Amino acid sequence: MSTNVVHPTQPQSGEDVAPSGDSNFAAEKQGAADEAVQPDAADDKEEVDDYVPSDMSGLQTYEGYADVGFEVATSAIEFTTAANISEEEAREALLQFVAENCCYGDKAAKQMQFDRIDPSNALHYRLETFCEKRTTCRVEVPHYPHQRVDGPHNGTRPLPWNVPVSPEREFADHEYKLPVPHTAEVRRCGVCAGRGRVRCGRCNGCGRVTCPTCSGSGRERHNSEEGIYYTTCTHCGGPGRVCCGRCDGSGRVTCGHCDGTGEMTSFIQLTVRFTNNVMDYIMEDTPMPDELVKTVSGTELFARTLPQVKPISNFPVQQINENSARLVEESRTAFPGQRQLKQVYIYIYHHYWQTLVRTQRHNLRAVPVTSVAYTFKEESSTFYVYGMERKVYSPDYPHRCCWGCNIL
Ligand SMILES: [Zn+2]
Ligand SMILES: [Zn+2]
Ligand SMILES: [Zn+2]
Repeated sequence: MSTNVVHPTQPQSGEDVAPSGDSNFAAEKQGAADEAVQPDAADDKEEVDDYVPSDMSGLQTYEGYADVGFEVATSAIEFTTAANISEEEAREALLQFVAENCCYGDKAAKQMQFDRIDPSNALHYRLETFCEKRTTCRVEVPHYPHQRVDGPHNGTRPLPWNVPVSPEREFADHEYKLPVPHTAEVRRCGVCAGRGRVRCGRCNGCGRVTCPTCSGSGRERHNSEEGIYYTTCTHCGGPGRVCCGRCDGSGRVTCGHCDGTGEMTSFIQLTVRFTNNVMDYIMEDTPMPDELVKTVSGTELFARTLPQVKPISNFPVQQINENSARLVEESRTAFPGQRQLKQVYIYIYHHYWQTLVRTQRHNLRAVPVTSVAYTFKEESSTFYVYGMERKVYSPDYPHRCCWGCNIL
């Protein structure tokens, strides 16, 4: 049992994430902020959360439980069973890869000679910052008779951050649109001036359009052995114009804006957008593209969810600690609008937005990557078996029977 302990750094001073400029919101969050800036109280609490004991001194061991120690994540530098693959397993994985690529032949996979099998572990650190952004704008929809209107007479409108909206799922992108309570008003439709009907766009209000059969000439052209001759248009009967089909000749149609009601309900619409921002760091030493590591499963070595995570600091691989610190630091300013308040006025629209970091989580995984050096027909190369699924990356597999497929 190793005594290495993987846990985040000692807490740093907490950061108040309350966006400035919104007094109500700031007041609401003040309690949390106070807690964060009291170093002693916050640190004590955090330390208890993060502490993982490793020292067994002073503790008894019990028969049948001799090897039981504290659970610590140290397997990053041990190879998982998925990484320790035999020659047969490497060949099996390669044959599976060949089977998935319709134009690859399996002869090379069956006959190639394996020169060397090198297991390794890639480390994948992932930091997810789950943010919430709220925007408002004024919208209007048709107002139908007897429809209830939730206007200012029903009470004071809540500020955007005081409208209760919770994410359906954390760490997943989704959006809600809802009316801000007590902001609805009814007013005359601005398109039809309250009449409910507007001029027909097809006939331009005159109720008649050019005859589609004769194109307005009033005549139909015929070819015969004696030559070309004309008769009166059978569709319009000669005038070259027919009744407009869209307005039935009235020259007016139902107003599409108010749906013919002549009135609109105008209200402030709140859009709540939840976004999961993902940052990755991959430490992978073979020439295989690092990005492939993200697509397969591995062994989780560490995971934590907090309002704002602290970087990993005690992992045995220093590069992981450094990049965890870098990404956590970047995440504090990486998302536009975070802890900002901006107001934009466009015509009558009052647009107001903010982003708030709701919560963060990070995890570290070890993903097995095995390099397999091979020789086939005196040509040597390497393929890679990666992930618990034993996927194969073999950019120069020698037996691609149909060379054209690569171009297609
Ligand atoms: Zn209208
Ligand atoms: Zn018309
Ligand atoms: Zn006609």
